[in-house]
Amino acid sequence: MNYNTETVNSVAQELAKMFKTMVMAQEDDRLPIAQIESEMREVLREIGNQMLGKFLSSMQKTPASEIACPCGGKLKYQRIRPATVISVFGRVTYDRAYYASCKCKQGLSPLDKQYGLEPGAVTAGLAELLALAGIGHSYDESPKWLEAFMLFSVSENTVRSETEKMGALQGELEEELIQKSQDETYLQERQRNPGRIVSRLYGSMDAAKVRIEPRPRKGKVTEKHEDWRDMKALCWFEVEKVPPAQRSARHKEKVEREHVPLRAKNISYFCDITEAENFGKLLWATGCTVNADLSPELIFLGDGAVWIWNLVVKYYPNAIQIVDWYHAEEYLVKVAKAVFNSLSERSRWLEEVTQALWDGQVEIVIKACVTLDQSCHEARKAVAYFTDNSERMRYHQFRAAGYMIGSGTVESGCKQIVTHRLKLPGAQWIVSGAVQTAKARSAWLSGTWQSLCDRRSALPLAV
Ligand SMILES: [Zn+2]
Repeated sequence: MNYNTETVNSVAQELAKMFKTMVMAQEDDRLPIAQIESEMREVLREIGNQMLGKFLSSMQKTPASEIACPCGGKLKYQRIRPATVISVFGRVTYDRAYYASCKCKQGLSPLDKQYGLEPGAVTAGLAELLALAGIGHSYDESPKWLEAFMLFSVSENTVRSETEKMGALQGELEEELIQKSQDETYLQERQRNPGRIVSRLYGSMDAAKVRIEPRPRKGKVTEKHEDWRDMKALCWFEVEKVPPAQRSARHKEKVEREHVPLRAKNISYFCDITEAENFGKLLWATGCTVNADLSPELIFLGDGAVWIWNLVVKYYPNAIQIVDWYHAEEYLVKVAKAVFNSLSERSRWLEEVTQALWDGQVEIVIKACVTLDQSCHEARKAVAYFTDNSERMRYHQFRAAGYMIGSGTVESGCKQIVTHRLKLPGAQWIVSGAVQTAKARSAWLSGTWQSLCDRRSALPLAV
């Protein structure tokens, strides 16, 4: 939108004069700047509030005496009736024409429909901000943060419901992708006209535990029933070399090990609490959007979890499978701790097997674990783990090919989605709430937040 700079200047000039009069009236020309700023913000919010109300009222055209009702009947003009919505400037009241007395007994205001306004509810502009607070802070903290920025208070429940609505929209979007990805016509068209194909694409999956418990209901003692559910996460990404000038101390450490530090880019995250089979549909559907199946080199990173590799084999049988280096290394550390009491023995053993693993000599690692005391649970587990995953641990080959061998990208995604939000103190989840909040947060982390906001803004109103 183009501003008329001159008009803005002259309005600002008037407002500055008005503000000065207010300050002088308090006989205080030594107000600290922070207080000046905050008082000005209050004034501007009030102005915005009035301005939005007056603008909306002014968009009401001369009402027709009759309009079509969505039910197919006719609605008759009643009167100009004020309505209140909660906007980014707080509660705003505006006037609009109201129609009723159709046989379906519904009332309607065309202006509300035009702007997606629902009397008593939040506007799409405010909904975006509430949801943004809700994906970053716990629901009981969010109102405090929001009030500091917006200068008016909203309830915890409003933040929760707007955040969950965004997550539900993300869920809808994913459902559409799933439907499309099972449609033969779409798949054939995509084969002919695939768009961008990444020459080396990465996929990764992981899971994190979320604590589910029923929200206590007012006046009703609910049985305390706690349950842990797996939030599965998947991500698609590309990898680039970190230019020398941008290398952090951590990267420099990695250089010594890996020669060329790599980092992920164009990352998209998806998540759900669901069975592996169902999650596979999301894997396939989102994979279609990045042409994962058409990529000349598709590399999957994961820990040893069986469901991950089963899904990879089912949907992407040609993908290169790599067990995340850090998980494999961690496994050896656990074994060493369980088996060796002496610190020097422990580190000697660890150094040797870690080097063998680094060189892709999994057979040596397995042998080293077999010779350990097999009455030790960790040692037995390690033998099975390295045997089952040996082909996914040819790290010397993977490094030679220049592949990323650590699944840090999806794990940090899991951490960001689950740990940093769903595990905040005081968080109590029901499954749908956890899923929707996590889905909204994934969209934010994937950089697709705006498309959710556009969907939210275009929401048709229930008439
Ligand atoms: Zn009707």
